[in-house]
Amino acid sequence: MNFTEAKHRIEQLKAILLENSRLYYVENAPTMSDYEYDQLMHELEALEQQFPEYATADSPTRHVGSDLEEERQGGFAKVPHKYPMLSLSNTYSIQEIEAFAERAEKSLSTSFTYSCELKFDGTAICLTYRNGRLASALTRGDGVVGDDVTENALRIANIPHRLKGSGYPEEFEIRGEILMPYESFDKLNHEREVNEEPLFANPRNAASGSLKLMDPEEVGRRGLFCTLYHIPGGQVDYPTHDAALSAAAGWGLPVSPDRRICHDIREIEAYIAHWDSARKDLPYATDGIVIKINEMAYQQQLGYTAKSPRWAVAYKFKAEQACTPILSIDYQVGRTGAVTPVANLEPVLLSGTMVKRATLVNEDQIRSLDIHEGDWVYVEKGGEIIPKITAVEPSKRRPGAVRPVFPSVCPDCGTPLEKPEGEARWFCPNTSGCPTQMKGKILHFLSRKAMNVLAGEATVEQLYNKQWVRTPADLYSLTEYQLLQLEGWKERSARRLLQSLADSRNVPFERVLFALGIRYVGETTAREVARHFGSIDALKNASREELLSVADVGEVIADSVFAYFRNDDNLQEISRLQAAGLQFSTDGGQGRLSHALDGKTIVISGNFSISRDAMKALIEAHGGKNSSSVSGKTSYLLAGSKPGPEKVKKATELAVEIIDEAALREMIGDSSASLGMTGSSPLGMADAEPTLF
Ligand code: NAD
Repeated sequence: MNFTEAKHRIEQLKAILLENSRLYYVENAPTMSDYEYDQLMHELEALEQQFPEYATADSPTRHVGSDLEEERQGGFAKVPHKYPMLSLSNTYSIQEIEAFAERAEKSLSTSFTYSCELKFDGTAICLTYRNGRLASALTRGDGVVGDDVTENALRIANIPHRLKGSGYPEEFEIRGEILMPYESFDKLNHEREVNEEPLFANPRNAASGSLKLMDPEEVGRRGLFCTLYHIPGGQVDYPTHDAALSAAAGWGLPVSPDRRICHDIREIEAYIAHWDSARKDLPYATDGIVIKINEMAYQQQLGYTAKSPRWAVAYKFKAEQACTPILSIDYQVGRTGAVTPVANLEPVLLSGTMVKRATLVNEDQIRSLDIHEGDWVYVEKGGEIIPKITAVEPSKRRPGAVRPVFPSVCPDCGTPLEKPEGEARWFCPNTSGCPTQMKGKILHFLSRKAMNVLAGEATVEQLYNKQWVRTPADLYSLTEYQLLQLEGWKERSARRLLQSLADSRNVPFERVLFALGIRYVGETTAREVARHFGSIDALKNASREELLSVADVGEVIADSVFAYFRNDDNLQEISRLQAAGLQFSTDGGQGRLSHALDGKTIVISGNFSISRDAMKALIEAHGGKNSSSVSGKTSYLLAGSKPGPEKVKKATELAVEIIDEAALREMIGDSSASLGMTGSSPLGMADAEPTLF
């Protein structure tokens, strides 16, 4: 590789790693496997060593990936770490573990031991105990500053609020991992599936996403637990890391009993071999083994690099694979019309969860894997929720097995499929008539990150089948009278949906733009475009060149947005949504409805007629500020049904006024308050049918 090629590849690797690090740590939605990520990181490390002139200070090889959320109103406080929270150097090769042990022996030239431990696959936490009480809990953040998640840590059942026994320092930090056991993970994803919320890819992402919730009571319901493995910075006076952890266990702190002291590489390898299979029986995820020099004095002697300690290394297990036969292949139509082949598999257990389906991505992938009907295939979980098929087992192919035939017409509406230039996927072009696409568009419109309306797949199916809702704008003419005719609908559920739709009028322009479902316009692009143009009218009239001047907008997105606003059906839909009162301009960026709550800090607790996220958005739309914990600065505790007893107690102690939803709605001038709030129907018919109330 010459200098120009190396420079180009380094830039490329940095960009890929930084973007994937953000998806992994901040969005909790990785799109590549850890193995792929680690291989790219190792490639970058090697190139930077070979071409040091291109190694820059901002390289991901020199920093831990940051999980810090953007600073925002009502977000977590950012608190500096006393000792930096680093990563671990890692490898997938036993030879490199041997090399680590050899290096340690050479540089220490004395006898020492190793502490071998499970590498827990969760999200890192740093707990501080002061006078035996839990004083704070910080996430790793960017390693230097963490998010203060103390309120949430207090809800994790096995984190002691008070230590037991004696001998602990007046103040000390202890670090570990927050994990979500497989059982809680399956339960959570099942609930999310029912509620039409995006699923978590794996228990690690679910643990990390849950720890970052602004709702401590919900955190308490997520079934998280903690395991601790490190007291940094010589804060306790024990000769070994192992002795310090045993003392911590004696103070009631959750320390794993599965660590083991090893004396040489042979014992380390035996420990790795044992846990490589035994870990499959653990109720939570582990992704490797951590090998640490056990003696504190030698840890100090070896020290740290900018990113990790020199006295420890992680041996990572490769993703588990399973081999199972394909039972059939479905061709699924998405909301954009893209047709994705999905294999139905003989169910097989993989990394603690049962796998029944795996994506075949597109026609080219089926061809390059040389898939035949009924083939036995290897499946692996990457970053995505749906596992990938990585290879075929040719020895198990049935004689006479044939290649699957990719459909030439839409499996739903029968329209001939098209493959646009430069696309690897086939599309159904019947965007405004294909039922699956139409229902998919409505579901996308309603989803949490779009309009956040409380309705899922079953509701959309019912409304579509009745022919009441064909496009999102139809939702805003629904009446309580209509909804009560649907099977299984009661006054409460009808009012809840109508209230949620009414509240969606407060959703800011950038999310409305995302909700429209313009091809290639994801959340980030929608935000950039909304901020740039400020209103739908300016956007409608924008030329391709103007679109291209927006950050993140390239040719493909510009073409897609330009074409969207040249389609009469789309323009008509937008006029109808405008008439329904949705936000189609940034209005100073906030989608502000009133100043009724200006200067008020509100803590919400319990359940409301709308989701908690929608309630927080409502407060912000009226100028209020949300906070997660009650303090002297809190203006109101907004208590729904079943509010957290601790919050109520604290509010009473601090004489913070406790109000209910009806009182809040009265303050913001929302007429639904007068109905004692389960919500009025804001639209037509229901108001004309008083007997229904
Ligand atoms: P890491 O997860 O590889 O290892 C370091 C972490 O292990 C520590 O910070 C600690 O939280 C944890 N840990 C668990 N058990 C431990 C124990 N017994 N002792 C000490 N620490 C223990 O490193 P990281 O910096 O948290 O994350 C980097 C890794 O994350 C990458 O190597 C990659 O595998 C993954 N990643 C993946 C993507 C993706 O797109 N798939 C993106 C970014 C990062």
